[in-house]
Amino acid sequence: MELMYQSTRGGEKNVTASLAILKGLAKDGGLFMPTRIPMLDISMKQLAGKTYQETAYEVMKLFFTDFTEDELKNCINKAYDSKFDTEEIAPLTKADGMYFLELYHGSTIAFKDMALSILPHLMTTAAKKNHVKNEIVILTATSGDTGKAALAGFADVDGTRIIVFYPKGGVSRIQELQMVTQTGDNTSVVAIHGNFDDAQTGVKEIFNDKVFAQRLEEKGFQLSSANSINIGRLVPQIVYYVYAYAKLLENQEIEDGEKINITVPTGNFGNILAAYFAKQMGVPIGKLICASNDNKVLYDFFTTGTYDKNREFILTNSPSMDILISSNLERLIYLSAGCNSDVNKKLMEELSKDGRYTVTEEMSKNMKDFCGGYATEAENAAVIRKLFKDTGYVIDTHTGVAAAVYQEYKKETGDTQKTVIASTASPYKFSRSVMEAISSDDSLEHLDEFEIVDRLHKISGMDIPQAVEEIRSAAVRHNMECDKDQMKETVARILDC
Ligand SMILES: *Cc1c(COP(=O)(O)O)cnc(C)c1O
Repeated sequence: MELMYQSTRGGEKNVTASLAILKGLAKDGGLFMPTRIPMLDISMKQLAGKTYQETAYEVMKLFFTDFTEDELKNCINKAYDSKFDTEEIAPLTKADGMYFLELYHGSTIAFKDMALSILPHLMTTAAKKNHVKNEIVILTATSGDTGKAALAGFADVDGTRIIVFYPKGGVSRIQELQMVTQTGDNTSVVAIHGNFDDAQTGVKEIFNDKVFAQRLEEKGFQLSSANSINIGRLVPQIVYYVYAYAKLLENQEIEDGEKINITVPTGNFGNILAAYFAKQMGVPIGKLICASNDNKVLYDFFTTGTYDKNREFILTNSPSMDILISSNLERLIYLSAGCNSDVNKKLMEELSKDGRYTVTEEMSKNMKDFCGGYATEAENAAVIRKLFKDTGYVIDTHTGVAAAVYQEYKKETGDTQKTVIASTASPYKFSRSVMEAISSDDSLEHLDEFEIVDRLHKISGMDIPQAVEEIRSAAVRHNMECDKDQMKETVARILDC
């Protein structure tokens, strides 16, 4: 039976998976949701022993029902290949009683590769299916990692262009170098004078501008999104939670049916929402622990029921989580309201008008699988240091937030269920902060980024990823900047329309 998609704000219904992927965002500003979350039609026991690619097919076929088996397998095989530095694609490492699900073995060394390696293939397949003649322009706001992963995925893909906006001064030096050295004639990278929320809001405004869409249409362009608001990103992220459970079972770390917790370092709420979808599909998952840094808007939301973005935006050492408007939370709000788009729409209007909203007690109850926590910069550094000292295992600063929050959760609740921690970036991507945490060397501030990379290699013994080696000497190809209210004009200039 075909699974259809609808907007969380009620303005679009009966949309096929391929069209939902092409559009990215619904025309009423809502996010696409399937009319139901399908159950896995294969047992976890049967999944144990399957490859990542096979697992991906078992999950994606249930959501992308208007893709043929060949189309889907073709997309999967092109995405999860030797771009990843391990055949396992997403290996699990046990350290200090925690299971780290390493999602950073793709070409840009952050978890965004897990979905953005496949999104361009899903999108070009969807374009063919729907006889799209226009060139597809991917507009992306990034807090650092999505930008590079999307650039790498879409570079030189026929029929597409990609424009990435990142907050100037709001990303790590390695992240910035990765983006501004991107090759490919169809790629553009723009630094905006503002923070990630400004970039994301600007992109959403461009999407909602009907007059601009018409102007683009006349020039043969149509917009789509590579942000996690696109259902074509969310679904591929479900795969690794299913895979992780099957792997734990296969390795006899858990019994069949035993519940596990998942802890996710959270920003835009995409990754943890994918874990929730995995739970809804039948994976035995207990708590979903939502870990925030000092921008703890989600922690406050889960503890009080009020979402309030009216607060200072704090720049931290986990910049990919420096976000005050977590877009994907809208999908959970919609689900918790019993898929009532009117309730959701009203709350989202309050958010855009007053910057805050409060959910009902009933809705809070429907979200009780989630619990929020946050870690300060000092707590983050302490857990990275301790883990390295005790086990020799190095994690990045985002994973550090998750580990610190999990340790605190365990202490407070006494919940000893086995827990998977989403390990979202290679420590090399945030070498400076990681080195500051694990070494007592106080000369770090005088060293450049690559000298720090070499020191991290020396003390950790971890191989330096190709993604870091290749930017050591790569030429800077992008130097465009713009004010946060000039994003539309900048897009028009890039597309010459
Ligand atoms: C994007 C990102 C996050 C946050 O993920 P969301 O899906 O936005 O919640 C966490 N860590 C890293 C390294 C990231 O790149």
